[in-house]
Amino acid sequence: MPESNERGPLPPYDGWRPSLKVRSHYVRRFWPLALLGLVVAALLVGLVVIATRPRPAPVAGPEPQPVADSTPAPVSAIVRPGEVMPAFLARADLPAADAELVIGALSENGFNFRRMRPGDSLVVARDPTSVVLVDYHQSFERVWRVRLDGPKPRVSMVFRRTENRPELVVGGISSSLYEALVDLGESPGLVAAYADIFGWEVDFFCETQAHDSFALVVDRRYCDGRFIGNGSIRAARYRGAAGDFRAFRFTDPEGREDCYNERGECLRKTFLKSPLNFSRVTSFFGSRYHPIRRVRAEHAGVDYAAPSGTPVSCVADGRVVTAGWAGGYGNLVEVRHAAGLSTRYGHLRGYGRGIRAGAEVVQGQVIGYVGTTGLSTGPHLHYEVRRNGTPVNPLRFDVPRVAPVKDEHLPLFEALRDSLVAAVPALASTPPPPPARTPNQPRP
Ligand SMILES: [Zn+2]
Repeated sequence: MPESNERGPLPPYDGWRPSLKVRSHYVRRFWPLALLGLVVAALLVGLVVIATRPRPAPVAGPEPQPVADSTPAPVSAIVRPGEVMPAFLARADLPAADAELVIGALSENGFNFRRMRPGDSLVVARDPTSVVLVDYHQSFERVWRVRLDGPKPRVSMVFRRTENRPELVVGGISSSLYEALVDLGESPGLVAAYADIFGWEVDFFCETQAHDSFALVVDRRYCDGRFIGNGSIRAARYRGAAGDFRAFRFTDPEGREDCYNERGECLRKTFLKSPLNFSRVTSFFGSRYHPIRRVRAEHAGVDYAAPSGTPVSCVADGRVVTAGWAGGYGNLVEVRHAAGLSTRYGHLRGYGRGIRAGAEVVQGQVIGYVGTTGLSTGPHLHYEVRRNGTPVNPLRFDVPRVAPVKDEHLPLFEALRDSLVAAVPALASTPPPPPARTPNQPRP
């Protein structure tokens, strides 16, 4: 890896902290402007308008590369889901004594074994008699290198150069957002990221129509010149029957990052729009013909079709009041939230770790897995929202937004917004933008 920048032996873990602190202290005053400048420069210089141009497919994982000239060919292996370091090293043919040295050296240098991910990879280089070097490729950017050819193992870290190239993706919808973006060669992950941004404004499963249009500016990530995947969406727009929505990603000088509309109001709300990432609504709230009872009845929630075992996320912070069997609901989790709101998740196959009555849960935590327990004809999630015990429509109820951009950071936000709009006409509003929020106006 000639481009790699080897940093030499790592200091012990505690030694890293002061330098990080110094950096954040130093940049507190200057980084917002510097970042803004960088963003604008990158956009103006590097923005390539691509709606239809095919892009090279992202590679599946870091390509293990030999890093030392040793006689036997280096052995490489890729972490499997759920695999822990000792099992992984054994599978990579590392002798037990060497594996112990490697694990000890990594842990002494602050390697976080819980951050091993499927797709991370290992390269083991040998000389004719013994293992001389072990490279652990953690994500694309980082390689942990352990040398075993001295009296003691030596750990260093190699950083591979990655860069973000912002790119504009625009298109129209003929059937669904998913198909429109996937037809352009985009990944389902990007569809999900985009749908997440406008999740509370637009229900992409039922409200999108032909002739709706979308635009997004996404960071394409490159490592050593190869496309390795998408980074964040910096800005986005959706125009359709549901309305005209714009989003700008902004990190304030205190480090809070979120997506805001043109007025600096947060696009997220205090509840997730849906407890499932990818799903299809199969039964809406309200009157319907019950498939098992064969009568018309009020449906107190929303049903989402999803494969059995799909993780179910808790939509907001709260406390579990029920986690157990509840007749027609099958396995049910009920969570109580602030403001008299509660949510129910029915027909679960099983429960998330630590989910029992009384447990505190946070937004996004897995509370269970989709199943078909109770009165159910197939794997789906029955999701209910209640306000003071009365069911409300989970797709329509009034949820408070997350806090807007702070007044003192509005000028910075507006500068970012205006520079993005100037660089990307697809983000410009057709009617003049609504007046900016005045600083002393009450928060929504
Ligand atoms: Zn239901």
